[in-house]
Amino acid sequence: MKVVLLSGGGGGARFARGLADTLPPGDLTVVGNVGDDLEILGLLVSPDLDSLLYTLAGLIDEGRRWGREGESWNALASARAWGGEEWFRLGDLDLGLHLVRTELLHAGMSLSGVTDQLREKASVSTRILPATDGRLRTHVHAPAGSFPFQEWFVARAHEDEVDAVSYEGADDARAASGVLEALADAEAILIAPSNPYLSIGPILAVGEIRTAVESRRVRCVAVSPLVGGKAVSGPLDRMLSRMAGGTTPAHVAGCYPALIDGLVIDGADAPGEADVELVATRTLMSDRDAARRLAEHVLEAACG
Ligand code: GDP
Repeated sequence: MKVVLLSGGGGGARFARGLADTLPPGDLTVVGNVGDDLEILGLLVSPDLDSLLYTLAGLIDEGRRWGREGESWNALASARAWGGEEWFRLGDLDLGLHLVRTELLHAGMSLSGVTDQLREKASVSTRILPATDGRLRTHVHAPAGSFPFQEWFVARAHEDEVDAVSYEGADDARAASGVLEALADAEAILIAPSNPYLSIGPILAVGEIRTAVESRRVRCVAVSPLVGGKAVSGPLDRMLSRMAGGTTPAHVAGCYPALIDGLVIDGADAPGEADVELVATRTLMSDRDAARRLAEHVLEAACG
């Protein structure tokens, strides 16, 4: 069953692995967020694509939930000693990937081409595509000012309340090579339990992708990233309360108007009224098996 998943790099990557463990090899295509990407120390870093790749390749640090297992930090310490920026943490093993990606991009390869080459090197059968090969950057607007995503998330520890989120470059962004074809071939479209504003929003801000999902002929099912009205990690519950007025399943579904047919919610959330079909199950991906069981439920819901 050909499936396309729209995903960020946290809850999204864990869910992607659950799907990859369930579906036949090669049936899953993941379209990843690039709104979090940044240039730092001369390198192009693509945190969500990397979390997807590391998770699917079994290289992720499961405790930290980002970066590589067995990481060391010598290069960053040396860069700091030479006066380089250190607020964005890049480990020695992780740096190797950023060096190769940056070199290939400078040589003229597209981000989708580079990502595919890295995936092949890691022997991952799931296709990972950036939403766009163009430049798209998320900005967070808070009472204290407007910040590029990583400055707000990492440097300011995402403590500012968020009034709005915008996606620089989205108006001109085209879907990356392969994305529209994958959506057209999909027998189901899924939206991962990722932050709707920060991870899925930038993907759907690419007009061609939004239109393809809006005019789908197959079901599109999202998984709620809330358990009992709370984010499992990160700032989503605060963001939803402030920007959408609450954290019920209806508030989550409201982030995807005309884009989803169903929402898979956790059993700890009272379903209440929503404009889409709600399916309750256990959505906490405490381990790989739990992620696989969730993936099975979501695929069932997507088959209608
Ligand atoms: P980011 O790119 O690191 O921000 O990652 P995502 O947007 O993909 O994931 C962050 C979201 O995943 C948060 O809103 C969490 O609440 C959600 N999340 C993390 N783990 C789980 C889980 O086990 N179950 C569910 N339902 N959501 C989760």
